[in-house]
Amino acid sequence: MAKQSYTDILFGKQEKLPPVIGDRSRIEQYGTCPLQAYLCKKHNIDVDSQLVNSCGIGHELVEEAVKYCQGSEDWDMIADHFLNELPKVRPDVQPDVIKAARFVTDELNNMPIQRLIGCEIQIDCQLLPADPDAGRGPIILTSCLDMLFSGRESSLIVYDWKFGFKKRSNAEALDLFQTIFICWLLWQQPEYQSVETIHFFYKETRWGTVAYARLDRHKEWPQLPHLTTEMACQGRIMEAVKLWLSDCQDAWPEPKKCAWCDAIMECEVANRLAKKLAGKIGNIKKFVDEIVVLTARLNTMKDLATHYVKKHGEMAGTASVIQRKKPAEPKFTLAVVKSEVKPKSEPEPETKPKPKPKPKPKKGKKLL
Ligand code: SF4
Repeated sequence: MAKQSYTDILFGKQEKLPPVIGDRSRIEQYGTCPLQAYLCKKHNIDVDSQLVNSCGIGHELVEEAVKYCQGSEDWDMIADHFLNELPKVRPDVQPDVIKAARFVTDELNNMPIQRLIGCEIQIDCQLLPADPDAGRGPIILTSCLDMLFSGRESSLIVYDWKFGFKKRSNAEALDLFQTIFICWLLWQQPEYQSVETIHFFYKETRWGTVAYARLDRHKEWPQLPHLTTEMACQGRIMEAVKLWLSDCQDAWPEPKKCAWCDAIMECEVANRLAKKLAGKIGNIKKFVDEIVVLTARLNTMKDLATHYVKKHGEMAGTASVIQRKKPAEPKFTLAVVKSEVKPKSEPEPETKPKPKPKPKPKKGKKLL
């Protein structure tokens, strides 16, 4: 960076510090496990599996179909154009792209195309101003939206295409960092200042399923009723941004996270089993066989334990005990229980309660 003269600084000609750009996926990595973000950056890990290729190609084909129809203004052609392009995909990934895009044409036919605002739109906003003392420019957050539509009563509709295997519930869709990040970014756009509601759809094209989340800007956030949805989203984003700016390298290993982590082979504190599975990418068969053998062994051990406690009583381990179910409490009639528990000193009630009809004993069974 060129050195600035005192005159430049005095007369406000201070050199502008370049903005620091935080993409949604990188910030999300910091929010999930900071070490993951750090390792991906350090080792320049760019996910390049066949699945990711298929997802990228799927997105490109949808964008192409939309642009083609936008040009010709013939929206009925959108699904046809998409289908026509599928056989032209790279031959090595074509079978998987076709499987992954199985339900795209249904979705393209049913979407509110007349309300389309844009496809593959990049939006951003400034989160923090420049801090010359810290030597950094303004913090800009950015993300790409697959499709954006205008909804009823100045609401917005977001489509996010998911070509992978993962399925989400509606509750999971609401909790996803991607959902809250994109909604919050949309609310910060000057043209969407009046937007209250955002309908967020994850289109799981491999399965034909949809996960939906609705976010109302000024309504209470379900888990934090003292905050509006917008404030709650901002809080979560800010915490992830703080980790990113401080270059945090904390590890938060959990089996679920590690199983999805792109940096798992570089990580020394990864969940042991998840790393074992990741290392066996060429030998998944062996891992599955191992599960079958271990499950069979575990079932046999459980069976043996059940029979042991039936004969000898409970078995105690270090932290748990295996025992038979406790026998059911002996059941008494209400009248018998009352006479047993009534304290002797208790005064007689003034009015005698109505005598309860005695239950008729069943034939051949004794009461006690
Ligand atoms: S493997 Fe687990 S602990 Fe290691 S970086 Fe990835 S998510 Fe974090």
